[in-house]
Amino acid sequence: MPYIVGLTGGIGSGKSTIGGLFSALGVPVVDADIIARQVVEKGSPLLAELCSHFGTDVLTEQGELNRAKLREIIFSHPNEKTWLNQLLHPAIRNEMLAQVEQCQQPYVILMVPLLIENNLPHLCDRILVVDVQPETQIERAIKRDNNKLEIIQNIMASQVSREKRLSYADDIIDNNQPLEKNLGKIKKQINELHKIYLKKAEEKQCQN
Ligand code: ATP
Repeated sequence: MPYIVGLTGGIGSGKSTIGGLFSALGVPVVDADIIARQVVEKGSPLLAELCSHFGTDVLTEQGELNRAKLREIIFSHPNEKTWLNQLLHPAIRNEMLAQVEQCQQPYVILMVPLLIENNLPHLCDRILVVDVQPETQIERAIKRDNNKLEIIQNIMASQVSREKRLSYADDIIDNNQPLEKNLGKIKKQINELHKIYLKKAEEKQCQN
């Protein structure tokens, strides 16, 4: 198993942006959001289970998962949310680990937005948090998704606080400054972290 660096941060903090910079260095990035979609893709056994539990209402005409419909159901039925999480979380975790294991490089970035909320820090050898102030999160998330303030605030309220997230961090990337001013500094920090992670990965290999 490669050395696993968990990359996390709140909504709109810049995880994908930072993940992309690691990727540019040739580091594999396993993205929990992509896996969460893959495990329920059209024709998958899990989508069939969702269908037999919730009915074909949760399918689009094309036979894909109707996420808006599913969100609507679990929003008004908390028990259904628990059922859904119990079905999906183990599948997502197993698939994340399977994809990590397939990577040939010494270390992997495991990008998981809800790493702390879903009690997954133990999967990682080290945790890297992308940190921004809540006001900046709101501003960037609204701009990116054209979303309402209330929706972003609700999502933020469902995530752990900035303080709690930072308490799990081995490393922190401060992404508060606009990228056009700060890209050079961030790339420099990522290069430094890259060297540290390569060294840690080598140490892990030696121990095994
Ligand atoms: P989510 O968890 O909500 O998917 P994320 O943490 O992956 O978000 P990104 O998608 O990387 O965050 O960034 C959110 C938005 O903010 C994007 O539109 C991105 O281009 C922009 N962004 C990221 N970092 C900066 C920055 N330092 N300055 C300005 N804009 C930024």
